[in-house]
Amino acid sequence: MTSKIIKSDLVVALDLEDRILEEGYLVIENDQIIEMGLQKNLDSRRKFDEVIELKNRLVMPGLINAHTHTPMSLFRGHVEGHTLFTLDGWYNTIRVLELDMEPQMLPGAVAVSCAEMIRTGTTCFADQYFWMDQIVPEVRRSGLRASLAYGIVELGNEQARHRELAAATAFLENLKGDDLLTGWVGPHAFFVDNSEEAMRIELALASKHNTGFHTHFGTDDEEEIHCQKHYGHSAIEQLRQMGFLEHPILAAHCITLRKEDFSKLAHTPFSVVMAPSSGMRNAAGIPPLPEILAAGINVALGTDNVTNNNSYDMFKEMAMIGKVTALLTRNPAAISTRAILDMATLGGARALGKDKEIGSLEVGKKADLISLDLEEIGWAPRGGQDIYTALVYSITGQHVRDVMVNGRWLFRENQWQTVDYKSARQELEIHHAALMRRVNK
Ligand SMILES: [Zn+2]
Repeated sequence: MTSKIIKSDLVVALDLEDRILEEGYLVIENDQIIEMGLQKNLDSRRKFDEVIELKNRLVMPGLINAHTHTPMSLFRGHVEGHTLFTLDGWYNTIRVLELDMEPQMLPGAVAVSCAEMIRTGTTCFADQYFWMDQIVPEVRRSGLRASLAYGIVELGNEQARHRELAAATAFLENLKGDDLLTGWVGPHAFFVDNSEEAMRIELALASKHNTGFHTHFGTDDEEEIHCQKHYGHSAIEQLRQMGFLEHPILAAHCITLRKEDFSKLAHTPFSVVMAPSSGMRNAAGIPPLPEILAAGINVALGTDNVTNNNSYDMFKEMAMIGKVTALLTRNPAAISTRAILDMATLGGARALGKDKEIGSLEVGKKADLISLDLEEIGWAPRGGQDIYTALVYSITGQHVRDVMVNGRWLFRENQWQTVDYKSARQELEIHHAALMRRVNK
C-alpha cells in the first residue's frame, strides 16, 4: 500500500457539511481518501510515501460531465448556424458525416475529447455513441472514470435492432468488472428512434446487467405526440408503466418535460441532465431548473457534444446554467451557486449511481480531485466573494493545474500524464481530412 499526503491552501470538499479547510490536507492510500483535516493538527513525525505540497492551489472534487459524445470532436465546427435538435438539422449536418465516417476515425477524436476534459477538470463523464469498441481503449488509456453507453438507433427496423442490441450486449459483457468504466444502455431517444419492441429488450438488458439508460429526452415534443397518440398518456407515464423508472436514467435536455410529470420523477433514479450551452446554441431552450429541483428530481450537468457547444469546460457550463436561469426567471437569485456546483459534482455522481464513491471529498471516497491555481487571474479579493460564487462565475477550466482520478495523476503541474495531446490532435487532423475527402468525393 502506498500513502500520499496532499497539502493545499484551501480544500473545498463540496460534501453535505460544506466543509472548507483552510491550510487543509488529504491522505490518500492507493485509490481512496483515508483522512482529511487541517495541517496545523497534523503530527509532524508522521511519515508518508509521498508528500505533495500544492502551494497557492485550491483542491476540490473533480467535475462530472453527465452527457457527451466523445467521437464528435471530429465534427467540431460543422454545425454552426444549424440545430441538432430537429431530425432535419441533425440529418443534414451530422448524419451525412457519420455515414462517411469509418471506425478508425474515432480514436484520435476520443483522445482529444479525453485530453480536453482532463485539462479542464473533469474526472468522470457519461458518454453515448456507437462503435464503443473504438472508444473504450482510448478512455481506458486516459485514466478517466466513465459511464459508457452503447448508443442505439433502430427506427423500428428489425435488422438494425438485432444488430445493435447484439453489439450492446457484447459491450456490456466486455466491461463487466472494470474498475473505472461502467457499461450503460444508450437508446438514442425513447419512442423517437427506439421502438417499444427495442425498448423492452433494452429494459431486460439493463436489468440483467444491473445498469441504466443514457438517452435524450424532450429535445422537442416528438415522444409526447407519439405517446399521446399510441397510449393516451405522456411519455413519462408510459416509461413508468413499462418499468423504466425503476432504473437509472440519464435524460439529457428534458426541454419539453411536462410539469404534470415532475412528481412521478421525484426521488426516482431518473436524472435530468442540463446541457445549457447546447440548448442555447440549438435555439431549443432549457427546462425550468428551479421547479425541477424544487420537485425533488435529481439534476446533473453536461456539455453535450462539442459540435453543439464547442467546449468541454464544465466551469463554463456551470456559469452558463446560472446566467441563463437568472435571465429566464428574471431573478438573479433563482439558483444558488452551491446548487450549481452540486449539479456538476454530487448530483452527477448520483445520476451515475456513484455518489457513495465520488462527487465530494470525503473519507472513504475515491481520490478523484483537481487543483486550481490561486495565482491565476479572475479571483476576487479575499473575503470579497464567497468561494462557491468564484468557482461558478469567475473561474474556468484554464485554472486547473492538477487532476487525479482513483489516486493517479492524469494531469500534474499543467502537464498531461496519460494522454499525448499533440499526437491525438495530429491523428484528429488526419482523420478529419480523410473524412472530408470521402464527403466531398
Ligand atoms: Zn447528446
